[in-house]
Amino acid sequence: MAADFVTKQDANWDLERGAFNILIDQEPAGIAIPRSADDVSDVVRSAAADGKRVAAQCTGHLAAPLGSLADTVLLRTAGLDGVVQIDSAAGSARVGAGALWGDVVPRASELGLAALHGSAPGVGIAGYTLGGGLSFYARKHGLACNRVTAIELVTADGEQVRVDADNEPDLFWALRGGGGSFGVVTALEFELLPLSQIYAGALFFPADQSSDVLRSWQEWIADVREEMTSVWRILNFPPVPEIPEPFRGNSYTAIEAIYCGDAADGEGLVAPLREAGTVGMDTMAVQPPQGIAELHMDPPDPLPYLGDSLVIGDLSPAAIDSLLKAIGPGSGSQLISVELRHCGGALSRTPEGAGALATFPGSFLAFGVNFVPMPEMMANPCLAGRFQGRTTALRRRHLSQLCRGALRDDQGVPAGDRGPPLRGQAALRPRRSLPIKPPGHGLASATACSSRVISSTRPGRPWN
Ligand SMILES: Cc1cc2nc3c(=O)[nH]c(=O)nc-3n(C[C@H](O)[C@H](O)[C@H](O)COP(=O)(O)OP(=O)(O)OC[C@H]3O[C@@H](n4cnc5c(N)ncnc54)[C@H](O)[C@@H]3O)c2cc1C
Repeated sequence: MAADFVTKQDANWDLERGAFNILIDQEPAGIAIPRSADDVSDVVRSAAADGKRVAAQCTGHLAAPLGSLADTVLLRTAGLDGVVQIDSAAGSARVGAGALWGDVVPRASELGLAALHGSAPGVGIAGYTLGGGLSFYARKHGLACNRVTAIELVTADGEQVRVDADNEPDLFWALRGGGGSFGVVTALEFELLPLSQIYAGALFFPADQSSDVLRSWQEWIADVREEMTSVWRILNFPPVPEIPEPFRGNSYTAIEAIYCGDAADGEGLVAPLREAGTVGMDTMAVQPPQGIAELHMDPPDPLPYLGDSLVIGDLSPAAIDSLLKAIGPGSGSQLISVELRHCGGALSRTPEGAGALATFPGSFLAFGVNFVPMPEMMANPCLAGRFQGRTTALRRRHLSQLCRGALRDDQGVPAGDRGPPLRGQAALRPRRSLPIKPPGHGLASATACSSRVISSTRPGRPWN
């Protein structure tokens, strides 16, 4: 078998078993790192022969739903990233299962194309797409899973199949939004958008203007075009050296807006938002699609966090009052980020030939998150090793880029209300998974995908 196998005795065991949220301590029966679809078949068959189950994992951004891995071989797909092909004439991409959005978005952008990627370049394309995939172009173009044209996977019996609209259409349907429980995906093909420029960025206001900004945003989105996707946020940056000025220790309310129609139109459409409060920083600009890869400031590296999300149907004035009371200025909230992502538009319509997750219910996706500094966790060499040393430089780079040229009239945003300072090493905005459910089909959802495992039948070895 050509796949690499990692056991508890190996020096890289702790590295390979790590999840993105380092509060999740994965203890699989063994770890396999295949380099090809044939390797994946071998791993699946070998695990079955040994009475083990198999769980595919790319980045571990959604590790919690896997649950106990005591009888499971963790199949890490990082070795399957060799293929990233973009066909600019056809407007399509083919990627290996180990590919991340950061491998595709810049390359596609250089060719005048955009992908329906999420807010973090470090998220795996396969896991994101199998669970639905909510992008910043979603109000116009729907869920990413419904842009998939073909999937190659290894089934529970080790067979390699290529599924599309004509070949194994039921399996093709189930995989698009139904998650990864149907096999190990080895490659994906999907459509890209012909989009060379967008108008996008963020407006930062003092946190004590949260109420005005949120209410103005709500009025603005009431009749905004589907080409516009936007997010309202409250951000409490902790006072730690990793966070550059002027963000360090300060709180903001912010609106992120992404317009995927004519860029000049986008400029005009966003203009009224600047009247919502005192804009301190304004990063809105006409730019190629790769410009928004890090707009949301998601953390690039593993860290400990707790987050939760909620789909909201209607944002009533009473709901806004409750929200601001809970997490707004003066509330004492220390959450690093709370956001409302505007949904609707194409997300509420079933596209032709859609997969298991055809639409996204609700008008807003709410998400709140905080970093969890736990001394006992940092005492664990595996976790501490993953956390320390890999994060600081990258985080500083992200925010520094944002700061450069972003200050309007050389004015920083004044510190708004902030709760007591966060302690410990902190990070930008980590997020958990999104609550995507395939409505009415009873399939596993992106968040509650109980066990992304393939069952096996007989007892045996290399993982013991
Ligand atoms: C910081 C952050 C930002 C995010 N932003 C967004 C966003 O903007 N929009 C959005 O929709 N979601 C977002 N998410 C959620 C994200 O899309 C899901 O967590 C996604 O499942 C992660 O995929 P992964 O492969 O990176 O993670 P993993 O944990 O490796 O995999 C996730 C799931 O997919 C399965 N899987 C992965 N690869 C395969 C494969 N090859 N074959 C079969 N099954 C497989 C795994 O078994 C697991 O159940 C975000 C999550 C985080 C942590």
